[in-house]
Formats: sequence, C-alpha cells, structure tokens
Amino acid sequence: MSKRDYYDVLGVQRNASEAEIKKAYRRLAMKHHPDRNPDDKAAEANFKEAKEAYEVLADAQKRSAYDQFGHAGVDASMGGGPGGAAGFGDAFGDIFGDIFGGGGRRSARQNRGSDLRYNLELSLEDAINGTEVQIRVPVMSNCETCDGSGSRKGSQAKTCTTCGGHGEVRMQQGFFSVQQTCPQCRGTGKIITDPCPDCHGQGRVKKQKTLSVKIPAGVDEGDQVRLAGEGEAAPHGGVTGDLYVAVHLKKHPIFQREDTHLYCETPVSFTLLALGGDLEIPTLDGRASLKIPAGTQTDKVFRLRGKGVRNVRGVQAGDLFCKVVVETPVNLSKEQKELLEKLDASMREGGKRHSPKESSWTDKIKSFVDDIVS
Ligand SMILES: [Zn+2]
Ligand SMILES: [Zn+2]
Repeated sequence: MSKRDYYDVLGVQRNASEAEIKKAYRRLAMKHHPDRNPDDKAAEANFKEAKEAYEVLADAQKRSAYDQFGHAGVDASMGGGPGGAAGFGDAFGDIFGDIFGGGGRRSARQNRGSDLRYNLELSLEDAINGTEVQIRVPVMSNCETCDGSGSRKGSQAKTCTTCGGHGEVRMQQGFFSVQQTCPQCRGTGKIITDPCPDCHGQGRVKKQKTLSVKIPAGVDEGDQVRLAGEGEAAPHGGVTGDLYVAVHLKKHPIFQREDTHLYCETPVSFTLLALGGDLEIPTLDGRASLKIPAGTQTDKVFRLRGKGVRNVRGVQAGDLFCKVVVETPVNLSKEQKELLEKLDASMREGGKRHSPKESSWTDKIKSFVDDIVS
C-alpha cells in the first residue's frame, strides 16, 4: 500500500509556509470531518490521511526528515504510523487542540515563562481545616508600558534577518539537518530596534504581587497548590508560567501527623496507671476522655479511632494514637517520702504479684549469672 505524497494530500507547494499548511489542513478537516459525513468510509479515510500529512508537515523536525527521506523518514518516528492505533476520538481532539485552540503546545517557538515555587508554612490546624492566605511574591510580570512586546510604544520590532522570523535556523551536518534556536533573536523571530524604556526591551519587569491563596482542607507536608498563570511572564509576550505554593507544616506543640493519623504523648502519674481511671487527652477539636485500666504500664499506646485527621483526598479521618508515659514524682515532702517507703515495703512482701516485669527480669539475670559461674 503506497502512500500519497503529504504535500499532494494537503494540496500545497513543497515550500509552503506553516500558515499555508495549517490553512490547507483546516479546509480538508472541515470538509471530511466525520461529524459532517456520518458513515462515509471515504471521507473518514480522507480525514485520516489529511491528519497524518498535517502531523508531519506541521512539525519542523518531521517535515525536514520527510523532505529528505520521504515516508521512510517519518514512519518510524510516528510509532506505528497514524491511522493505525489512533482512533477517531483522538483525531477529533487534535483538530480542536491544534487549530482552534491556539495549538501552542507543540510549537518549538512557543515561549513560556518559568514556573515559580513559593514555600508556605502552615500550622497543623490550618492545614487540616483549610484556610485562605495572602502571599506576596516577587515575579517578572508583563511590562504594561509596552504590553510585553519590549518595543517602545509606537515602534515595531523588525523581523530577524538570520532566521527570517522563524526563530529557528537549520544547520546542515553531513547527512542530517539539525534545527536550532536562532542565536540572533533567541527564538523570538524578532529584533527590537527601539527598546521600551521601562523594561529595556525585556517585555517584562519585576513586581511584587499579592495573591490570595485558598488552601484546601487536609493538605500535608509537601502538597502543592497550583495557581495557573501566576508564575513568571515569558519574555516578549509568551505564555505566563504557573505558581506552585508548596505546603510545609510547622511543628505542633502536641501532635505529630503522619498522613491521616495523629500521635501524641501524655505524661501521667504512677497512681493513675496503677489504680486506673479517666484521663483527659487533647484532640484537635477539643478534648476526649480515655479509660485507663488499672495496672497499665508506662509507654502503653491507646488508639482513638476517627480522632485523627482527613487528608486532602480522603473522606475518612484517621486515628489518634496517644502514648501514656509515667512521670516520676519530684520535690517530695517528708511525709510523702515516708508513704512511698511504706508502700514499697508492703509491695516487696507481695513479691512477683506486683511487678511481673521486674520479677522476670531478675530471674533472667539470675540464670545468666548462674550460667557464668557454673
Ligand atoms: Zn516595556
Ligand atoms: Zn532569528
């Protein structure tokens, strides 16, 4: 199955400009579009053929390869060839994406401003509940005096003579031709002869922008909120970049967070752990009561289901893990010391029953020492 020449398919000359190719394709696409020709196999084939031709000729690199090597020069790079795997939904999207929608995405000449990153410190509460913050960002933004063109008002940039306004130059390197950004105009295709006094021909100036940023509830360390079009303006009026607000959590005095779970440590008295009772512990929305069973050991972790937090995607809150840590009493009065001594003496009489861990520990040491001796 031999393919028709792409220039013939679109009905354009071999030296046709990008604009002529686009125009020809648009005309054919409108004519053969499946929406206009339902159930017409011939129209469908014509449509696919035009799309394939356009995809090659609209891409400077592919066009150059096609010019030199014919279909053999582009088929391999097209991943199995067009009209094969790509269905109609695809072709439809491409028409509107490429022609009606500006179609800047694929063009090598597209110039886009840098994306920026702003580091935002949030309290745990704000991250969990969501908030709105005002931030001030220094950015390069469009120069209003010249409307981003870089030329003094009333004057016009000249077409670059090195690249003829294409922004790219083709260099012949032996067998291959290589496309390069034009060194004269740095890809803009234009030379500014009378620069704007405010931006010195840059088309953009440094400004402080104040932005209001909505932080959604549940964000966590490392999450980013993207503000489309709030990054740096591109030089000479291209597409403005995006601003990414990166979330960092401040250290919380009580809680550590791991995704949807919260962790905390509560100091408790030895008496409470020994006798059992209710313990009030902090949660993010107030306080909760914890039942401590009699005879609880220190470092025991209690889990409160659903008392954690939701993340930015989740609907279900995680858990709160609370570790109880015994606090040794200090600054004891004479009387308190005597009471403790009495208690200690009384428990010694009870032996193993009162301190199971200590008893098994002493047993281990005993057998260890016995082993060495014998
Ligand atoms: Zn300016
Ligand atoms: Zn140039």
